[in-house]
Amino acid sequence: MSYKSLPSVDEILRDPRMAAILENCTHELALTVIREELGRIREEITREKNGPERHHIVSLVIRTAAERINKLQDATLKRVINGSGVVLHTNLGRAPLSREAAACTAELTQGYTNLELELASGKRGSRYQHLESTIMNITGAEAALVVNNNAAAVLLVLNTLGRDREVIVSRGQLVEIGGSFRIPEIMAMSGARMVEVGTTNKTHPADFAGAVNDHSAMLLAVHTSNYRIVGFTQEVELAELVEIGRQKGLPVVQDLGSGSLIDLSPWGLKDEPTVQKCLQTGVDLVTFSGDKLLGGPQAGIIAGKRKYIEQMKKNHLLRALRVDKLTIAALEATLKYYVKGDPTATVPVLEMLTRKHELLQQQAEGLAAAIRGEMQGFGKAFTLRVIEIMDKVGGGAYPLQDLPGYGVELTLEGDAEMLARQLRNQEPAMISRIQEGSLIISARTLLAGEDKLIPALLRRALEETKA
Ligand SMILES: *Cc1c(COP(=O)(O)O)cnc(C)c1O
Repeated sequence: MSYKSLPSVDEILRDPRMAAILENCTHELALTVIREELGRIREEITREKNGPERHHIVSLVIRTAAERINKLQDATLKRVINGSGVVLHTNLGRAPLSREAAACTAELTQGYTNLELELASGKRGSRYQHLESTIMNITGAEAALVVNNNAAAVLLVLNTLGRDREVIVSRGQLVEIGGSFRIPEIMAMSGARMVEVGTTNKTHPADFAGAVNDHSAMLLAVHTSNYRIVGFTQEVELAELVEIGRQKGLPVVQDLGSGSLIDLSPWGLKDEPTVQKCLQTGVDLVTFSGDKLLGGPQAGIIAGKRKYIEQMKKNHLLRALRVDKLTIAALEATLKYYVKGDPTATVPVLEMLTRKHELLQQQAEGLAAAIRGEMQGFGKAFTLRVIEIMDKVGGGAYPLQDLPGYGVELTLEGDAEMLARQLRNQEPAMISRIQEGSLIISARTLLAGEDKLIPALLRRALEETKA
């Protein structure tokens, strides 16, 4: 076997089997892929002093080219069924939108919009006009601004109010969220100088007051979303911070993180201060995410005093952090539910967090029955039962609090991890939970209709585990 007997690129392109492939990609891409595959085989021949037969080479190249090109056609962002029981799962895209909010977004973004146009006057408008009054009405803020995410919101606030000046923050609140949002780093990026006060477990009002000097720009409070320091601790209450800010003439900013717009304490979720409450305490600005407890798309919301919001609208950094029309459409549709007053029934995240215990049990039992039905006559030995489990809010909210829920537990002779892996490879992919060697599917985080898909997914995954 020598290079001379390698088929030419043209010969492969002319092969009738290529026709179907060429329908799915450009001629250039097919050429590149074929050249690369032939190159690989040429190397193999050099290395091994041997290689596949000529007619095998043609088939091999065509098959590999088809696989590669088909893979390029596959979307990498795929639908996932969340059986983990973690409602705000950052790896799974946090908040799912309601069907209506998603449809509204799709509808609006298929055409042109008045994104930056005042329809009445025909003059140029601002994209920031769209959500502002709705947020003001819901939160009671004087003004509001929406940016790309909460990290961007914090960056913009720090850069606008604190650049080349000092921002005072408690040592107990230097949070890291999701590995990439860290207060010291974002502070450095913003050009503000961070002044840490107090200690990890205790910070007193006097620590803040004592750190104020001529270079001070603002006092920052950060909600310790994803952890709690317990034991012998003290943080400065927001009201105290507001009082210090007032005395010293400095703005007080709270990075709330999750930023719930409704009080979830009737459902046992007590640690998350609402945006409204924060503003009522007198803070000048609050920042929070659109896709955590609010239940909307990825976005960062800044709400508070108009004079500061206006300064931020003039900051050129805003151009790099600006929110897209897709986000505006989805957030506007989500916020409508809050205006209507029934978000726990209509915003998926809130519906999941507030779903009745009995309903969760009923749903888990329905799912178990459907799985049993699908598995009739299936040889593989496993036991199936409905159990009480602990779900999580996730997204860095309520780190210490579990949500009592229900799930379907599958205990099998084989490897539960392997089954979990096979479930992730199905279409749609499914995420489950492994607990004490068993596989668990939580009822809480399943969306309407997904329970109907699970039995067949599970059967396929079990078959593949066995194979
Ligand atoms: C989640 C969170 C952030 C980051 O928000 P993103 O919307 O993910 O950018 C910042 N601060 C706090 C306190 C958070 O909880």
